[in-house]
Amino acid sequence: DAISIADYIGKPEVLPFYKIHDKFSHKGTFGHVLIIGGSYGKIGAVQLASRAALVSGAGLVTTFIPKCGYTALQTALPEIMVMTDVNDDFISNIKVDQPFNAIGIGVGLGTHPDTVMAIESFLKSQKTPLVIDADAINMLSSHKKLIQYIPELTILTPHPKELERLIGKWKDDFDKIKKVKRLSKKYNLIVVIKGFNTMIILHDQVYINSTGNPGLATAGSGDVLTGIITGLLAQGYEPLQSAIFGVYLHGKSADLLAHNMAYQCITASDVIDGISNAYTDLF
Ligand code: AMP
Ligand code: MG
Repeated sequence: DAISIADYIGKPEVLPFYKIHDKFSHKGTFGHVLIIGGSYGKIGAVQLASRAALVSGAGLVTTFIPKCGYTALQTALPEIMVMTDVNDDFISNIKVDQPFNAIGIGVGLGTHPDTVMAIESFLKSQKTPLVIDADAINMLSSHKKLIQYIPELTILTPHPKELERLIGKWKDDFDKIKKVKRLSKKYNLIVVIKGFNTMIILHDQVYINSTGNPGLATAGSGDVLTGIITGLLAQGYEPLQSAIFGVYLHGKSADLLAHNMAYQCITASDVIDGISNAYTDLF
């Protein structure tokens, strides 16, 4: 029964809330994204997420990373602004002293104890629309009290292992959906269950995505999804719309790439480059 009440997400479902970028727009219209993440050796995750946010249409993108990533990120992505932690190799104290329209947190973050403390005080002070991914999800699992500080309608994007740490083992898909619904209702969160036929769950509502392929089973693919969803949030899409449309565009990009690329050869960077075709394919 959990499946029978699910809505299937395809083009007709996302088109009604698609926002055009009209001729009177300026970069301020499309919001300012902040991506918080990275640790020594995992700055690439922040690069992927922040470029994906930009390509999804966000007006401005700033990142908050440990110092070691500064030169690499500024060199790779001249469009993006970089703020750094006081620490070289991991985030230890998140200082956000300007407003953002949406924040994505967790990609490449690592789980250093100081980072956990930094995430705790960050979450306690947050009201901005938020996407929580990767190691920031793992911290919710290992430090259960953190979950109560998450703002309402925050989007969590766990892959299967991250989900298992968060909700425990499930017997079958029905049991998994039941557990995620319970979590979503208790804390008023949106959960994106990633994988083949990604599901988006809010309370008792279940949406099943129709796009995507095994070409997405590659390093950094989830970081790209986090960037897209955060970019959509910053552009003023509602949280549920951002999760649904983000998952759709991410999968559609990969589907269009697969017309002339083998699944084996698709990389996360290709998926970012394909977002443009996913948008134009809507019409
Ligand atoms: P992550 O494991 O965080 O890098 O996220 C992987 C991303 O790729 C998620 O958006 C998954 O939904 C997607 N993905 C992984 N494997 C598949 C698959 N076999 N079919 C469709 N999407 C997939
Ligand atoms: Mg991931």
